[in-house]
Amino acid sequence: MMSQPGLSPILGRFKPSAIAATIAIAARMRAEGRDLYDFSTGEPDFDTPDHIKKAAVEAINRGETKYSPTDGTIAMREAVQRKFARDNSLTFTLPQIIVASGAKPLLADVLRALASDGDEIVLAAPCWTSHAGIIELVGAKPVYVTASQAQGFKMTPGGLADALTARSRAVILCSPSNPSGATYSEAELLGLAAVLRLHPDLWIVTDDLYEHIVFDGRRFCTLLNVAPDLADRIVAVNGVSKAYAMTGWRIGYAAGPSRLMDAVRKLMSQAAGCPSSISQAAAIAALDGPLDCVEVFVAAYQARRNRAVRALNLFPGISCIPPEGAFYVYPSCEGIIGTATPKGSRIASSTDFARYLLEDWSVAVVPGAAFELDPHFRISIATADAELDEGVARIGLAISVLGRRGNQLGVVNG
Ligand code: PLP
Repeated sequence: MMSQPGLSPILGRFKPSAIAATIAIAARMRAEGRDLYDFSTGEPDFDTPDHIKKAAVEAINRGETKYSPTDGTIAMREAVQRKFARDNSLTFTLPQIIVASGAKPLLADVLRALASDGDEIVLAAPCWTSHAGIIELVGAKPVYVTASQAQGFKMTPGGLADALTARSRAVILCSPSNPSGATYSEAELLGLAAVLRLHPDLWIVTDDLYEHIVFDGRRFCTLLNVAPDLADRIVAVNGVSKAYAMTGWRIGYAAGPSRLMDAVRKLMSQAAGCPSSISQAAAIAALDGPLDCVEVFVAAYQARRNRAVRALNLFPGISCIPPEGAFYVYPSCEGIIGTATPKGSRIASSTDFARYLLEDWSVAVVPGAAFELDPHFRISIATADAELDEGVARIGLAISVLGRRGNQLGVVNG
């Protein structure tokens, strides 16, 4: 066999995204002709609204098909500036704003700009898989604050304070959260701000991607609203992917202190480059346009959440609290652990349970190990109504035939 040159040792620092892995298995099964109830992807099932698509077509026809400045066109950054003022009562200058090819690569450059080897970055568990992955990729260490189902999947001020050490470099706050939907209230953010105020050397990254997807009339609030005195060390990351059903357009943006944003700009200038000029034109239409399309999406997610949570809580071994935002439910499957499938495999973890659902019932969910809080699994409710209802019903059927000591789970105390 021919020998090959080696690969970078950086690859040993982090795992590939477990969500991407589940999505890849689901895609393979679909290619094999299997019908699938796919709850693995975190993207709206809705199409991008027409007025946004139209703005992209018009940009193409105007010839806006070239590079833009690395951090986005002035028109796009002005739209972001207007958005922060209108939706969040926050004022930023243009140099404080950066637009990139999605919030994910932007988060990576933000973390790369502020942390390096040996630093610790604190975040709630469960967390979004890529928050942990990016932290590891930049050479830092994720430090998890357990945010259990009993505490509404929220980090408490005490939990945060206990996690901070002399090596802590940053805290990531994600609200509404992927995967739990936990959405911090103003009072809860004030509690966290009181702890953060005592640690002047900490950067704070707020991931506000699901800002517009909040339920039951809740009002979104970001840390900058309750703690403007911390503005010198807060960077607010956001994007159009989730709210406007624009995951494929790849536009994210962030605003923060100039010194940090200049560092991010410097990194982007050599690696990421500028975001798509066409997508930026579309994103301007999204940010400046009406929010009624988003309201229609959110009403659908809320109705699906209600149905999914109600159904899941009827299944033995499952307990599920209603998420306050985002478009996921994150049920506990603690009562399923230790059971056996009809084929005789033991379910020892949420990963085993997810594999059983996928292989034997064609239902794709993401196991809790991907989000650092187990035993849970994530169901995306950004899935068409009928598919969601049927898929959730299948999860119930799958559970009803699990056995424990010769009995069916359904007839023993789950
Ligand atoms: N932040 C959170 C919490 C997410 O769930 C996601 C996508 O799943 C992102 C950021 C990335 O968004 P984008 O599509 O802008 O890269």
